[in-house]
Amino acid sequence: MIQQEVTSELSKLIKFCIGLYLLFLTPYPMSYIFELFSSLLFDVYIITHITLNVKRFIIILYFSRRKQMVRPIMKDVLFLGQKSETATKADLSVAQDLMDTLASHKDECVGMAANMIGVKKNIIVVNVGFFNVPMINPVILKKEGPFEAEEGCLSLVGSRKTTRFKKITVEYCDIEMKKHVQEFTDFTAQIIQHECDHLQGIII
Ligand SMILES: [Zn+2]
Repeated sequence: MIQQEVTSELSKLIKFCIGLYLLFLTPYPMSYIFELFSSLLFDVYIITHITLNVKRFIIILYFSRRKQMVRPIMKDVLFLGQKSETATKADLSVAQDLMDTLASHKDECVGMAANMIGVKKNIIVVNVGFFNVPMINPVILKKEGPFEAEEGCLSLVGSRKTTRFKKITVEYCDIEMKKHVQEFTDFTAQIIQHECDHLQGIII
Protein backbone atom coordinates (compact mmCIF):
# COMPACT_ATOMS: atom_id res chain seq x y z
CA MET A 1 0.00 0.00 0.00
CA ILE A 2 2.74 2.45 1.06
CA GLN A 3 4.90 1.24 -1.84
CA GLN A 4 2.03 1.98 -4.26
CA GLU A 5 1.65 5.48 -2.84
CA VAL A 6 5.40 6.14 -3.15
CA THR A 7 5.42 4.87 -6.77
CA SER A 8 2.47 7.06 -7.65
CA GLU A 9 4.06 10.09 -5.96
CA LEU A 10 7.34 9.41 -7.78
CA SER A 11 5.61 9.17 -11.17
CA LYS A 12 3.85 12.48 -10.42
CA LEU A 13 7.21 14.07 -9.63
CA ILE A 14 8.82 12.73 -12.82
CA LYS A 15 5.89 13.99 -14.94
CA PHE A 16 6.11 17.37 -13.22
CA CYS A 17 9.86 17.61 -14.01
CA ILE A 18 9.43 16.58 -17.65
CA GLY A 19 6.54 19.03 -18.06
CA LEU A 20 8.56 21.89 -16.59
CA TYR A 21 11.51 21.09 -18.84
CA LEU A 22 9.41 20.89 -22.02
CA LEU A 23 7.48 24.06 -21.23
CA PHE A 24 10.23 26.46 -20.22
CA LEU A 25 13.71 25.05 -20.23
CA THR A 26 14.44 23.19 -23.49
CA PRO A 27 17.23 25.61 -24.61
CA TYR A 28 19.39 24.49 -21.65
CA PRO A 29 21.20 21.14 -21.28
CA MET A 30 19.50 18.73 -18.87
CA SER A 31 22.50 18.47 -16.54
CA TYR A 32 22.61 22.24 -16.04
CA ILE A 33 18.90 22.39 -15.32
CA PHE A 34 19.11 19.45 -12.97
CA GLU A 35 21.87 21.03 -10.92
CA LEU A 36 20.09 24.37 -10.77
CA PHE A 37 16.61 23.16 -9.89
CA SER A 38 16.92 19.75 -8.25
CA SER A 39 17.04 21.11 -4.73
CA LEU A 40 14.23 23.61 -5.41
CA LEU A 41 12.06 20.91 -6.99
CA PHE A 42 12.72 18.65 -4.05
CA ASP A 43 11.41 21.30 -1.66
CA VAL A 44 8.34 22.07 -3.81
CA TYR A 45 7.65 18.36 -4.04
CA ILE A 46 7.96 17.88 -0.29
CA ILE A 47 5.63 20.81 0.41
CA THR A 48 2.95 19.83 -2.05
CA HIS A 49 2.99 16.05 -2.02
CA ILE A 50 4.70 14.22 0.78
CA THR A 51 3.91 15.83 4.10
CA LEU A 52 1.69 18.30 5.83
CA ASN A 53 3.69 17.93 9.03
CA VAL A 54 5.33 21.37 9.28
CA LYS A 55 7.87 20.39 11.92
CA ARG A 56 9.12 17.40 9.92
CA PHE A 57 9.19 19.53 6.77
CA ILE A 58 11.41 22.14 8.45
CA ILE A 59 13.79 19.42 9.66
CA ILE A 60 14.00 17.83 6.17
CA LEU A 61 14.51 21.26 4.62
CA TYR A 62 17.26 22.09 7.12
CA PHE A 63 19.15 18.87 6.42
CA SER A 64 18.65 19.06 2.63
CA ARG A 65 20.01 22.63 2.63
CA ARG A 66 22.93 21.76 4.84
CA LYS A 67 26.33 21.08 3.28
CA GLN A 68 27.81 17.61 3.85
CA MET A 69 30.23 17.71 6.78
CA VAL A 70 32.63 14.78 6.79
CA ARG A 71 34.92 15.06 9.82
CA PRO A 72 38.34 13.41 10.32
CA ILE A 73 38.40 10.22 12.43
CA MET A 74 39.77 10.67 15.96
CA LYS A 75 42.54 8.14 16.73
CA ASP A 76 43.92 9.62 19.98
CA VAL A 77 43.42 6.80 22.52
CA LEU A 78 43.64 9.25 25.47
CA PHE A 79 40.73 11.28 24.07
CA LEU A 80 38.72 8.18 23.12
CA GLY A 81 39.22 6.81 26.64
CA GLN A 82 37.17 9.66 28.20
CA LYS A 83 33.45 9.41 28.99
CA SER A 84 31.02 11.41 26.84
CA GLU A 85 28.37 13.80 28.20
CA THR A 86 24.59 13.97 27.78
CA ALA A 87 23.62 15.47 24.42
CA THR A 88 20.96 18.18 24.05
CA LYS A 89 19.02 19.73 21.17
CA ALA A 90 22.00 22.05 20.62
CA ASP A 91 24.10 19.02 19.63
CA LEU A 92 21.86 17.83 16.79
CA SER A 93 24.27 19.17 14.18
CA VAL A 94 26.85 16.74 15.61
CA ALA A 95 24.44 13.89 14.81
CA GLN A 96 24.25 15.07 11.22
CA ASP A 97 28.06 15.38 10.94
CA LEU A 98 28.29 11.86 12.32
CA MET A 99 25.78 10.63 9.70
CA ASP A 100 27.79 12.30 6.92
CA THR A 101 31.08 10.89 8.23
CA LEU A 102 29.68 7.36 8.59
CA ALA A 103 28.23 7.57 5.06
CA SER A 104 31.67 8.47 3.72
CA HIS A 105 33.14 5.36 5.41
CA LYS A 106 30.28 3.02 4.52
CA ASP A 107 32.57 0.36 2.99
CA GLU A 108 34.61 -0.10 6.17
CA CYS A 109 32.35 0.98 9.02
CA VAL A 110 28.80 0.17 10.25
CA GLY A 111 28.51 2.50 13.21
CA MET A 112 30.09 5.54 14.79
CA ALA A 113 30.10 7.38 18.12
CA ALA A 114 30.46 11.17 18.35
CA ASN A 115 33.85 11.00 20.09
CA MET A 116 35.19 9.31 16.94
CA ILE A 117 34.77 12.70 15.24
CA GLY A 118 36.17 14.53 18.26
CA VAL A 119 32.93 15.43 20.11
CA LYS A 120 32.39 14.01 23.61
CA LYS A 121 28.58 13.82 23.46
CA ASN A 122 26.31 10.79 23.85
CA ILE A 123 25.39 10.42 20.19
CA ILE A 124 25.84 7.35 18.02
CA VAL A 125 24.85 6.41 14.47
CA VAL A 126 24.09 2.79 13.62
CA ASN A 127 23.75 1.20 10.21
CA VAL A 128 20.59 -0.92 9.91
CA GLY A 129 20.83 -2.13 6.33
CA PHE A 130 19.81 0.66 3.96
CA PHE A 131 19.70 3.35 6.62
CA ASN A 132 21.96 4.94 9.19
CA VAL A 133 19.97 5.63 12.35
CA PRO A 134 21.10 8.34 14.78
CA MET A 135 20.54 7.64 18.48
CA ILE A 136 20.82 10.47 20.98
CA ASN A 137 21.70 9.56 24.60
CA PRO A 138 21.36 5.79 24.12
CA VAL A 139 21.23 3.63 27.26
CA ILE A 140 21.23 -0.17 27.18
CA LEU A 141 18.54 -1.20 29.68
CA LYS A 142 18.72 -4.98 29.27
CA LYS A 143 21.17 -7.52 27.79
CA GLU A 144 20.51 -11.20 27.04
CA GLY A 145 22.55 -14.06 25.58
CA PRO A 146 26.27 -13.34 25.92
CA PHE A 147 28.67 -14.53 23.19
CA GLU A 148 32.30 -14.06 22.22
CA ALA A 149 32.84 -11.65 19.33
CA GLU A 150 35.82 -10.26 17.45
CA GLU A 151 35.52 -6.65 16.33
CA GLY A 152 37.47 -3.98 14.53
CA CYS A 153 37.17 -0.21 14.87
CA LEU A 154 37.92 2.69 12.55
CA SER A 155 39.81 4.35 15.43
CA LEU A 156 42.05 1.30 15.92
CA VAL A 157 44.32 -0.96 13.89
CA GLY A 158 43.42 -4.67 13.84
CA SER A 159 40.65 -6.48 15.72
CA ARG A 160 40.03 -7.51 19.34
CA LYS A 161 37.97 -10.13 21.17
CA THR A 162 35.11 -9.05 23.42
CA THR A 163 31.85 -10.27 24.97
CA ARG A 164 28.61 -9.07 23.39
CA PHE A 165 24.94 -9.86 23.95
CA LYS A 166 22.56 -11.27 21.32
CA LYS A 167 19.50 -9.29 22.39
CA ILE A 168 19.41 -5.85 23.99
CA THR A 169 16.80 -3.27 24.98
CA VAL A 170 17.83 0.31 24.32
CA GLU A 171 16.37 3.65 25.40
CA TYR A 172 17.34 6.53 23.10
CA CYS A 173 16.07 9.79 21.60
CA ASP A 174 15.61 10.25 17.86
CA ILE A 175 16.63 13.32 15.85
CA GLU A 176 13.47 15.13 17.06
CA MET A 177 14.49 14.32 20.67
CA LYS A 178 11.54 11.94 20.97
CA LYS A 179 12.22 9.09 23.41
CA HIS A 180 12.05 5.45 22.24
CA VAL A 181 12.54 2.10 23.97
CA GLN A 182 13.33 -0.59 21.44
CA GLU A 183 14.67 -4.15 21.28
CA PHE A 184 17.55 -5.00 18.94
CA THR A 185 19.07 -8.37 18.08
CA ASP A 186 22.09 -9.91 16.34
CA PHE A 187 24.38 -7.66 14.29
CA THR A 188 22.46 -4.42 14.92
CA ALA A 189 22.57 -5.16 18.67
CA GLN A 190 26.32 -5.81 18.42
CA ILE A 191 26.94 -2.48 16.64
CA ILE A 192 24.92 -0.58 19.26
CA GLN A 193 26.90 -2.25 22.09
CA HIS A 194 30.21 -1.33 20.40
CA GLU A 195 29.14 2.31 19.94
CA CYS A 196 27.68 2.61 23.47
CA ASP A 197 31.04 1.35 24.78
CA HIS A 198 32.71 4.26 22.94
CA LEU A 199 30.45 6.67 24.89
CA GLN A 200 31.79 5.15 28.13
CA GLY A 201 35.38 5.60 26.93
CA ILE A 202 35.77 1.88 26.19
CA ILE A 203 37.40 0.94 22.89
CA ILE A 204 36.50 -2.74 22.36
ZN1 LIG B 1 34.67 1.64 17.28
